[in-house]
Amino acid sequence: MPKAFHAPVGRKLKIATASLGGCFGCHMSLLDIDERLLQLAEIAEFDRSPLTDIKHCGFADIGLIEGALCNAENVHVLREFRSHCTVLVAVGACAINGGLPALRNRYDVGDILEQVFSEKPGGPACVPNDPELPLLLDRCYPVNEVVRIDYFIPGCPPSADTLWEYLNDLIAGRRPHLDYAHLHFD
Ligand code: SF4
Repeated sequence: MPKAFHAPVGRKLKIATASLGGCFGCHMSLLDIDERLLQLAEIAEFDRSPLTDIKHCGFADIGLIEGALCNAENVHVLREFRSHCTVLVAVGACAINGGLPALRNRYDVGDILEQVFSEKPGGPACVPNDPELPLLLDRCYPVNEVVRIDYFIPGCPPSADTLWEYLNDLIAGRRPHLDYAHLHFD
């Protein structure tokens, strides 16, 4: 049973988003709610999100997380984001089940690196090992394998209407419900 969400009283709702290993398509869907963003802005303010340039999330009532866990930095970002969000919503197939990045899971990560870099044109086979680079995980993981997730919005990406309906339900204190039209992907 997902955690019940109660909108704050006496202040604006805070919403934040973060992206891990994904294509930013789920964020684009959020932006595609278009002029309804103005309605949302009347009751909510955005922390870290595509609408701001905030790099580190402050406290948020609702956090939306896109993308799978592909490297060590993704895990760090997710844990930090979880600790700042009252309610955390996994948005899209990558976050929920690994999605497209998880296509690599059937291969050994070392073999993938060798294959990619040994075929680099014009140079010696060399897998980058700069300590600044985040280490790849052995496979891509869905976010709920590392932190608690309160809600899941499926799709690749979920449509703007789906995100809008879902957010409206959450903000109104209703248990989010997606009808067939919002879960029908072909
Ligand atoms: S679920 Fe689809 S749209 Fe969203 S980040 Fe993954 S690949 Fe992109």
